Amino acid sequence: MNGSTAPEFETIVYERPAEKVARIVLNRVDARNAQSMRLLYELNDAFDIAAQDDSVSVIILAANGPHFSSGHDLREADALGVIEAHDRVGTWCGFGCDGAQSQMAVEKEMYLGLSERWRNLPKPTIAEVQGKVIAGGLMLVWPCDLVIAADDAQFQDNTISMGVAGVEFFNHPFEVGVRKAKEMLFTSDFLSAAEARQLGMVNHVVARDQLSDFTLALARRIAEKPLFALRLAKEAVNVAQDNQGRATAMQTSFAYHQLCHSHNQQVHGMLIDPSFMAKTFGDAVGARS
Ligand code: ZN
Repeated sequence: MNGSTAPEFETIVYERPAEKVARIVLNRVDARNAQSMRLLYELNDAFDIAAQDDSVSVIILAANGPHFSSGHDLREADALGVIEAHDRVGTWCGFGCDGAQSQMAVEKEMYLGLSERWRNLPKPTIAEVQGKVIAGGLMLVWPCDLVIAADDAQFQDNTISMGVAGVEFFNHPFEVGVRKAKEMLFTSDFLSAAEARQLGMVNHVVARDQLSDFTLALARRIAEKPLFALRLAKEAVNVAQDNQGRATAMQTSFAYHQLCHSHNQQVHGMLIDPSFMAKTFGDAVGARS
């Protein structure tokens, strides 16, 4: 594929800032880069373009605006409509089935499925992160191979406040260790960039105004290496992590996550605890988590 192609997206910007480097930028600044279904599909398409482009060796995932991502778009007006209109859907009952199956189908494909897919893209990926990264935002950062954070970056999983036991891509124990994983889940507190680096979740913390230059310089250095060896080294580390139990633990936690949605649906008539929506948005409209 020709590396000069610059596809047009609504919610993503696709850039080629240097030879062998692609930069994918979240671009819903007014919504703090909340992950609408459109954004997730476009992000997946952008990753595919970079992965399939033989002139790209390293992929940066960045975000415009003061915050990297506020998580899943809990108030997207026609999420299911966007999903149903997309031409690559429906591997789980077309998403139109009834009961708990429909929600599980959507989340298995759009949340867990996409994050796992991006984790396993056969090229090095680098997250370039500033500002707040909340809940579903972690599911964009964690699948990347390296994480570079600005000194103002903060990371939070607040899903327990929503009556849900952690985000769908439940990588916390492998990112920050079991003690901190429990604390961040139990309290919904933010992890600072410095703390995340100390725990091994972040590779480097740099000044906010150095973030893009630092990340690009690192990407260019990696892009000089032979790509096949890079691919296999990435696979080797991922396989090692999966053999530590990550893959099966992820399936279990995803099932618990779905159980929470079903519980909330039975008790509250919606997928998350309505008190969270009331506190966050001033009413209880919206339900996707
Ligand atoms: Zn969910």
